[in-house]
Order: sequence, then structure tokens, then C-alpha cells
Amino acid sequence: MKEVLTTCPYCGCGCGFYLMVNEKEEITGVVPSAEHPVSRGRLCVKGWNVFEFINSPDRLLSPLAREAGSLRETGWDDALNKTAGKLKEIIKKYGPDAVGFFSSAKCTNEENYLFMKFARAVVGTNNIDHCARL
Ligand code: SF4
Repeated sequence: MKEVLTTCPYCGCGCGFYLMVNEKEEITGVVPSAEHPVSRGRLCVKGWNVFEFINSPDRLLSPLAREAGSLRETGWDDALNKTAGKLKEIIKKYGPDAVGFFSSAKCTNEENYLFMKFARAVVGTNNIDHCARL
């Protein structure tokens, strides 16, 4: 068993913990880092269970595209092209305030900043929010 020090991906607090990894390279648990300056040996329930999604059979491993009412797996190029095409179509027809952008606490500050710039400076809307405000 080895311990790998890392940062919780769930929210901006950035708590620190060790992932417990067995000889088959499987993550089997979490131990909070007592020395971490933010969490100081504590985690919330999401942090304690952070490793469970990694091998979950329900985990999405590729984008899904809705076609004729059902979802099918697709590649990133196809998903991004479809999303960009639809955004352009809606903005051209109804204007930039017809779309909105919703960011995630799982993104870094830099990614959230770029997302805000994309919404305001590129698309031209102030319709941007973040899941932490829900
Ligand atoms: S353990 Fe909880 S509070 Fe800490 S970063 Fe993860 S989700 Fe946020």
C-alpha cells in the first residue's frame, strides 16, 4: 500500500489528503493530511468519499450527444463542434443574451476566469454563473 498526496477536486477549498493505493494500483481509501494548511487533518463527506467515482460503472468516460430523444456516445471533436454550432445558431438568431454559461467549482480559478472572459468578451453576455452559488 502506498500513499499519494493530492488535492481534493470537488471544491475551491482545496483540502489535502493521501489516496491509499494498493499493489494493483487501485485506490482504496483516503487519509486526510494533518499537515495541510487548509484542511489540517479534516475533510467533508465529499472529500472522504472522493475516490468512489473513479471505478464507478456509472462514470461517464466520453461525451454524450442527444439524437432523436436518446443519448449516444460520441468523441470530443464531435461534441465540441455540435455545441459551438448550436451556440452560434442561437446567438445569431436571438442575440448573445439568449445563451448563458455555468461554471464549476471543480475548475481552477484560472479556468473560471477564462470562462468568464469567453462569456463576456467573446460572446458578449453577462449571463454567467457558478455552481457554488446554488
Ligand atoms: S474535502 Fe470537502 S471542503 Fe475540502 S476540498 Fe473537498 S469538497 Fe471541498
